[in-house]
Amino acid sequence: MLPQPLIAAKRDGGTLAPPQIAEFVAGLVAGDEALRWSDAQVAAMAMAIVCRGMDAAETVALTHAMAHSGRRLDWRAEGFAGPVLDKHSTGGVGDKVSLVLAPLLAEAGADAGVIVPMVSGRGLGHTGGTLDKLEALRGYDVAPSPERLRQALRTAGCAIFGASADLAPADRRLYAIRDVTATVESVPLITASILSKKLAAGLDALVLDVKVGSGAMMPTLPAARLLARSLVDVATGAGLPARALITDMDRVLGFSAGNALEVQEAIDFLAGRAREPRLLEVTLRLAAEALQLGGAAADASVARRRAESALAGGGAAERFARMVAALGGPRDVLAKPGLALAPVQCDVPAPRAGLVARLDVRALGLAVVALGGGRRHGGEGIDPRVGLTHLAAPGEQVAAGQPLARVHAADRASADEAAAAVLAACSLVDADMPGPAAGPVVIESVAP
Ligand code: URA
Repeated sequence: MLPQPLIAAKRDGGTLAPPQIAEFVAGLVAGDEALRWSDAQVAAMAMAIVCRGMDAAETVALTHAMAHSGRRLDWRAEGFAGPVLDKHSTGGVGDKVSLVLAPLLAEAGADAGVIVPMVSGRGLGHTGGTLDKLEALRGYDVAPSPERLRQALRTAGCAIFGASADLAPADRRLYAIRDVTATVESVPLITASILSKKLAAGLDALVLDVKVGSGAMMPTLPAARLLARSLVDVATGAGLPARALITDMDRVLGFSAGNALEVQEAIDFLAGRAREPRLLEVTLRLAAEALQLGGAAADASVARRRAESALAGGGAAERFARMVAALGGPRDVLAKPGLALAPVQCDVPAPRAGLVARLDVRALGLAVVALGGGRRHGGEGIDPRVGLTHLAAPGEQVAAGQPLARVHAADRASADEAAAAVLAACSLVDADMPGPAAGPVVIESVAP
C-alpha cells in the first residue's frame, strides 16, 4: 500500500482501520527502502493526526502496533513470577518520584514477588529526566546488560534503566520526527508514544502521574484530564491495567530541581532525613494505586499502610542502595553518595516584601537547563551539579531580602543569569492581597 492514500485519508478527517495503522507503523521501521516511509511522509501523517485527531480505536491500534514494532520484554521467561509494576510521569520540574517509588514498590510488594523494571528517559524541554539524575552517581549504568539488569532485579526488586534501541523502535523514529516538526502536542500521539514503550516492557500494571500546571506538558486541568483519560483507556484497551493521578505542577515538587541535588533529596527522603510533604503524598498515593492494581494489596488502605511501612522501616532505602550498587554506582550510596557540589552557590533575595502569588515553574525548569542541568540540543552533555533549592512556594509571605531560591551554578555568570530568571519567574504581590489557596498535590484520580 502506498503511504499517500493513507496520509490523505487522515488529512481529510477519515478514520484509519487497524491494518492501515499497522501499515504506517511498518513503514516507520522497515529496513527495506521500498517499504520504508520517508521522514516527509511520516511528518505529514503526524501532522494529519495532530490536526484531525484519532478516535479511541485508532489510538489503541497505533499503540498496539508500535508496542509490537520491536523486542518485548518477558519477565516470566526471565524467572520472575510476581507482578511487574511501573509508573510513568508526563514530566515536571523537581519530579524525583521515580527514584523513591521504584524501591518503595519493590519493598512494599516483596511478599507478592513484585518487581519494578522501570524504563526511564532523559530530560525533555524544561523537564528533568530520571536517567540524567541517576548518572550523577558515579558509575551508575543506565544501559545495563541483560545479566546485570536481572541481577539488580534479583537483589533489589527494582531497576531504573533506559530503553534499548529495540524496544518500540517505531516510537523512537516517530518521536524524533515529531520533535522537529511541531507535532508533539497531540493526545493520541502522546498516548501511543508513552504506552507503546510500557507495553513492550512487559508490565502487569501501570500507574500514570499526569502533571498539570505551569511546569507541566498539560498546563490546564481539562487538557490534563483528556490525556489522563486517553492513557488509562488505551492502556486498559490494550490489556494493561492502568490508573492515573492528576498532580499539581504549579510548584516545584520537593525541595530541589537539578540532577545531583534531586538524587541527594531522594536519598534523604528514603533515609528519613527530610521528606517534603507533597513529594511524600504523591509517592504514597502512586504506590498505593500500583500495589492495588497489581494485586499485591487487597484494598487501598492495606496498600497505603504497606507503602508507609516500606518507607518508615528503611526497607525502601535499603533496596535503593542495593539497586545502585548492582547497577555499578557507589557501594554505600545512602552514607556516601559521592555527589559533586556546584562551586558557586548563592541566594536570590526577594526585591521587596510580599506574597508569592505565582511561580512560573516552566521558567524555573528552563533556568536549570540554562545552568547546564539540561540539554539545549540533542547530544549535549549536562552538568549534574547545578540547579535550584530552597524555592519559595506560591502563597508564601517573604520579607525584603529573604531568599526566594538558592542557585547552584558552575560559575558566577551563569549564577547571575539564573538568579534573574528566578526573579522573573516569581510573581510577588502586596502582602495584604489574597494569595493562592494551597490546593492538594493530588488533584484527581482517573480510573478506567
Ligand atoms: N513522552 C513520550 O514518551 N512521548 C511523548 O509523545 C511525549 C512525552
